[in-house]
Amino acid sequence: MIDIEKIREDFPILSEKVYNKDLVYLDNGATTQKPKQVVDKIVAGYYNTNANIHRGVHFLSQRATEAHEAARETVREFINANESKEIIFTRGTTEAINLVVSSYGEHYLQAGDEVIITEMEHHANIVPWQMLREKKGIVIKVVPMNDKQELDMEAYKQLFSPKTKFASFAHVSNVLGTINPIKEMIQIAHEHGAKVLVDGAQGVPHLKVDVKDLDADFYVFSAHKIYGPTGIGILYGKEEILDLMPPYQGGGEMIATVTFDKTVYNELPYKFEAGTPDYIGSTAFAEALNYVKTIGLENIEAHEVELLKYATEKLKEIDGVVIYGNAEHKSAVLSFNVEGIHHYDMGMLLDKQGIAVRTGHHCAQPLMEVLGIEGTVRATFAVYNTKEEVDKFIEAVKKVVTMFR
Ligand code: PLP
Repeated sequence: MIDIEKIREDFPILSEKVYNKDLVYLDNGATTQKPKQVVDKIVAGYYNTNANIHRGVHFLSQRATEAHEAARETVREFINANESKEIIFTRGTTEAINLVVSSYGEHYLQAGDEVIITEMEHHANIVPWQMLREKKGIVIKVVPMNDKQELDMEAYKQLFSPKTKFASFAHVSNVLGTINPIKEMIQIAHEHGAKVLVDGAQGVPHLKVDVKDLDADFYVFSAHKIYGPTGIGILYGKEEILDLMPPYQGGGEMIATVTFDKTVYNELPYKFEAGTPDYIGSTAFAEALNYVKTIGLENIEAHEVELLKYATEKLKEIDGVVIYGNAEHKSAVLSFNVEGIHHYDMGMLLDKQGIAVRTGHHCAQPLMEVLGIEGTVRATFAVYNTKEEVDKFIEAVKKVVTMFR
């Protein structure tokens, strides 16, 4: 069991007042709050360790380099990658997907080649592929969902053809909470000779990820959704594939030698890390992963699922509530609408009661089209949320409903 009260003490922001009300922060899917340990690491990094890494002979630069590389190793261990050179620091999930689409896609995909995505993708895993379609004439195929908003696995299998070169899908939907059977999906894609990218932005914060066991070719995620800092994230890629890919950006750090005639690229992982990396962010990110490890991801997951179940039951009791995302395997996301109440109105009126939720299309407009709606109200849970907060949230929803009826 985890001691939530003790955990909450690590997050000073949770004691903030909003319009004189206690803050109830249920927007964790967008970004989580940061524990003191992570913020302290950032402060200590700038106070004690700051110097540009890799190129310096001086003491501080070496200290900063060691901390940055140790952070890479922490990430490697967290997702059980083979080698730390398979861990590429990016600005986040979005940049990691763009890196793969630009580098692998532009180099290895040709006109007519097919890429499979799903109906529940975030824009970050749709738009880069559409940009590649503009450039190269690839074909994008989309896996439909069943009426519980789970992927239709039969349809997924049927979408493969000899032209399928890539499948790219979310581990967990940021709108529906659906946990996709990614291990099986990866295996099916590999049987057809296709490479796979898993968008783990909503996976890593809630579920144990073992990239070796999954056999994922690429797995990407963001630090800020797992109690880490903003502006940094991870591209995991299998070494043999990353080795074959050309650099994504040119500049410092990614070179071995440069003359005016020719540049020899650096080895992995630096080949994909042009420019000064966020070496303070990387160490804070590692601190966040250690924080999660100390609590135990399985404890975090169990706690969040309990909150999700409790909140879902309570919400269903309210007249006119429609919940989107009714999958058998579901993570800490609760999307809903109430008949006759626009999601923005609900969001704003919840905010006035101190409840922070997200409203709108959640960067998944194509999914909204499939669901036949413009948007939802979305509550997302993290380790520090409590049943009392769920009760406040439910009472606040009821109050809004009463105002409208
Ligand atoms: N993919 C999913 C499933 C997400 O939920 C998000 C963020 O909400 C992203 C991608 C984009 O992440 P980032 O903005 O950190 O790059």
